[in-house]
Amino acid sequence: MDSKEDADIDIPTGILRKYFVADAHLDLLFDVEKQRSYGRRRVIASDYLPGFEEGGVNLVVSSLYIDDIFLPEMALRRALNQVSALYGEIEETGEKLMLCKSYSDIIAARESGKLGILLSFEGVEPLYNDISLLRVFYELGLRIVGLVWSRRNFAGDGSRFSEAATGNGGGLTDFGFELVREAENLGMLIDLSHLNDEGFWDAIDVARKPVIASHSNCRTLNSIGRNLTDEQIRAIASKDGVIGINASSILVAGRDEDANLDFLVNHIDHIVDLVGPGHVGLGFDLCNRLFSHISFEAIKGITRKPFDVLEGHKDMNLLVDRLLDRGYGENEIGQILGDNFLRVYEQVLK
Ligand SMILES: [Zn+2]
Repeated sequence: MDSKEDADIDIPTGILRKYFVADAHLDLLFDVEKQRSYGRRRVIASDYLPGFEEGGVNLVVSSLYIDDIFLPEMALRRALNQVSALYGEIEETGEKLMLCKSYSDIIAARESGKLGILLSFEGVEPLYNDISLLRVFYELGLRIVGLVWSRRNFAGDGSRFSEAATGNGGGLTDFGFELVREAENLGMLIDLSHLNDEGFWDAIDVARKPVIASHSNCRTLNSIGRNLTDEQIRAIASKDGVIGINASSILVAGRDEDANLDFLVNHIDHIVDLVGPGHVGLGFDLCNRLFSHISFEAIKGITRKPFDVLEGHKDMNLLVDRLLDRGYGENEIGQILGDNFLRVYEQVLK
């Protein structure tokens, strides 16, 4: 990107500035809405943009995540509160932020040096079981539909974080099937992260366009239901989709002592070995701030306190450095940093 060019920068930073960089999953508005409810304003500009700029981030996907305690009655209102917070932030900081609803918006944001923000559901609880509300969220600017979080809702059943007994899971419901079809018709992208295996395969069957798993790792390297099997990785690739690698310790490795940036790169290597470099991206799911608002004990099924193996977007150069060490070429790194997700956005969003 021209505006990011500078003299005297190291090679990883140069790559970050040259290529499009996307983080396909961040619970940005969960934090921002809470901060604004305390009276703060321009929260993204003060708390997030310096790190994004240091890491060369051009686009973040901000999910609408709803706490268990607000389900079911308050889910819609909490989602709208988060959308309202984003609109407020953009009004106050329009010179630096842009809500993106299409591929051309994403390109325009990058060219004008603004941070592009895509809105997604992390579970469709805000819709309850009313398909007509999907269009309302489309009109508000939401373009990515994560069908479930790691719990059951009217669309389907979530994968759990641990092997703890939770009863038998099911696949997508009639509502879930309808949702995939309707979302694709509207020009929204289907996100399979958090689905259980039954729902995953149902969604693969019904989806007609590329699908993503915005923030999931490889079950071969860390055997939890929240991660993807090799067969699932191949299925996403066969639909020309992308998997965003998750930097949360509990998805990276089975033991805290193994959870680090090198192990994160093992997941990238594994996906590249299976399906090539065209189907992996970044969906870091950085949670350290989130856990300043909710205790991890309050999140069902999580048995280890999660931490981010990448401390923040400011450390993106460390990741690029590791990829160079492992022999990735600059163009492959560019694919991983964001070009792969960009390809899918171009194909699906409208
Ligand atoms: Zn998630």
